[in-house]
Amino acid sequence: MSNKGLSNIKGVSKADQKMIADVEAMFGPEPSEMGFVKNLFWGRFRDEVVFPYPEESAEERAKCDALLEELEDYLVNEHPSILIDQEEYIPEWCFDRLFEIGVMGMTIPESHGGLGLGVTSYNRVLELIGRHCSSTAVVVSAHQSIGCKAIMLFGTEKQKDHFLPKVAREYLSAFCLSEPNVGSDAAGQKTRCELTDDGTHFILNGEKKWSTSGALAGMFTVMAKQQMPNGKEKVTALICTPDMDGVDIFEKNRSKTGIRGTWQARIRFNDVKVPRENVLHEEGRGLNVALTCLNFGRCTLSAGVSGAAKQAMDQSIKWVQTRYQFGRPLAEFDLVQQKIARMAAYTYAMDAMLYMVTGMLDRKDKDIMVETAISKVFCSHFGWEVIDDAMQIMGGDGYMTENEFERLWRDNRIHRIVEGSNEVMQGFIFAYGGKQLAEQMLSVQDALLWDSDESPLRNVTRMVRNGLNPKVLEKAVPLGLQLFFGVKPSAPDIRGVHPSLQSYADRLSNLVQKHSHYFKLASKWEREKIVKHQTQQARVADNAIRLFALTCALSKMSAQLRKGEAGASFDRDRAAFDHLFDLFEIDIFNNFGEMRYHADESMREAAAAARRHNDTLPNSDYYIHEASPVAAGTGKDTPTEHIKQFPGDGDALGDVSGDGAAGNAEIATGTGEATEGTA
Ligand SMILES: Cc1cc2nc3c(=O)[nH]c(=O)nc-3n(C[C@H](O)[C@H](O)[C@H](O)COP(=O)(O)OP(=O)(O)OC[C@H]3O[C@@H](n4cnc5c(N)ncnc54)[C@H](O)[C@@H]3O)c2cc1C
Repeated sequence: MSNKGLSNIKGVSKADQKMIADVEAMFGPEPSEMGFVKNLFWGRFRDEVVFPYPEESAEERAKCDALLEELEDYLVNEHPSILIDQEEYIPEWCFDRLFEIGVMGMTIPESHGGLGLGVTSYNRVLELIGRHCSSTAVVVSAHQSIGCKAIMLFGTEKQKDHFLPKVAREYLSAFCLSEPNVGSDAAGQKTRCELTDDGTHFILNGEKKWSTSGALAGMFTVMAKQQMPNGKEKVTALICTPDMDGVDIFEKNRSKTGIRGTWQARIRFNDVKVPRENVLHEEGRGLNVALTCLNFGRCTLSAGVSGAAKQAMDQSIKWVQTRYQFGRPLAEFDLVQQKIARMAAYTYAMDAMLYMVTGMLDRKDKDIMVETAISKVFCSHFGWEVIDDAMQIMGGDGYMTENEFERLWRDNRIHRIVEGSNEVMQGFIFAYGGKQLAEQMLSVQDALLWDSDESPLRNVTRMVRNGLNPKVLEKAVPLGLQLFFGVKPSAPDIRGVHPSLQSYADRLSNLVQKHSHYFKLASKWEREKIVKHQTQQARVADNAIRLFALTCALSKMSAQLRKGEAGASFDRDRAAFDHLFDLFEIDIFNNFGEMRYHADESMREAAAAARRHNDTLPNSDYYIHEASPVAAGTGKDTPTEHIKQFPGDGDALGDVSGDGAAGNAEIATGTGEATEGTA
């Protein structure tokens, strides 16, 4: 019986097959042991992965606590968060202080000049920075989670010896994956690297966009397509440095909504000669490198937004307890309390999930890509909900710049778009979470169901042969019973919770059983259309996300009870935990209902009609993407007057011009000494 890939489903268009194949290629080889969330799709609950709640060693915690104390002192007393936002840059002295405190190299081994701390500690630090300055949180994350992470994980000893001490103590690093035409579709790289005839160097050509700190960095991790000896095109990861001939940083940054202190560069690589020893990992394994780094980036993104959401919650509750309208504090109104309770429930779950996933990374669990993706979607989505609710209950004053709240709100909108937009991640969680189960269902279907493309004789012969095969029957019978007779497998046992929480474990177990059942039913109802119908995929993914959130919350609350925690902070957590279960149970049941009864058909009609109307509007009145294959160059010109411009190194001035640009000309390259191209 063949175990077909999802891209081979019959009735799926060539374009969709290619898209799925690209996604499958991106996520690399199948892990031998399935991770926690994948098991949820099968209706199984791997207690041993999530209980007890992960904890760092006492020594690690004490080391991190000391760092947090020093950092908080710096953030409260020195760090110019308001100026950073207003002036759209982080002054060089701030980086110097962060390097000095050790934050910039905190996960780099002590042997290479870092603090040698783990992923959990690193995320605790990012959470603290996120409370104070999201621009700084993003720069630290871009540097250590993705910019130089590949060297830590995949670098040769020579690469590590050369670069790690510098990125730990001297200069920033950057990650170059996105291109004008490569956003969500990361596999579609146009940048190319070709080996020289003598095989000693690569010649790198192409253009990268959005590289955070690219104009300030001493090294970049660059992804480029390479033709492999077998003729296949694969992505290779290379270390480049800004001093290499042919590296042209032609735009240092663009003005933007939030995280305005971060800089995203556009970089052209014109026949750049990169030594072959600058390859990271193996030639052709670049997407694997990129996605492994993104596991870390997705966590630190979650930590930054968690910190910001907690800050928003604390600030807004303080506000509504002390702001009086209609003769009473705002906090006494039911609709305000609804928001307070939601904020407490979501932030509790964000925290529980974040440190569950960082614990998995610290333990070096193998199959955690679905979990890190879920953490990113969950924290960016619910973090935004929290911050937006907080803005609402602070009223007009929340919208004013002086309360430092609108900055938090602007800064934290980005996280749903970057490091895999949430829509792309929902598709991934659905497809990769349920991939093995879907493949098995397809294989069973191939083996036993009528195929209209085959002759009747072939159909009958195949069905009889497979129907007598015990291996096929072993899988087919339970699936058939579920799909056609509604017989569900038994709900999983959930052990390891604090005894007082057993009723919550039972509720979760019931939801897990139904999740697996509905995943199979949705696949049966939709058949091959499931590949196109992202709305159904999103419902399944959203349920998987919530089940994982409930699991993490259950594990964390069990640990808190076992430790005997008490007091106002514990009481808040305990009530938030309770509310979370109610909220997500309702959401999950609603999603089950919507899998059957939804508005998807009228949605598609309405979208098609709105698109047809849009075709009647002239392109020249609207902005059009620079790399549009159908309309590039036909849109409205982007204004530059009154919008701060950030020309590149090659420009005559090389500084920042436009309104409010004064004083930025000295913005440093931040590279410290020039770096050689060789590793
Ligand atoms: C502030 C900032 C910092 C960044 N830093 C870096 C960096 O350091 N290095 C780097 O390489 N890149 C970086 N990026 C790029 C970032 O990763 C991309 O913006 C992101 O991947 C999305 O690509 P895009 O903006 O081209 O959106 P597009 O790919 O054009 O997508 C736009 C929207 O369309 C929808 N969409 C897209 N595909 C699908 C789909 N398959 N199904 C359903 N909906 C879909 C989503 O809603 C998505 O948000 C940064 C971007 C920003 C704005």
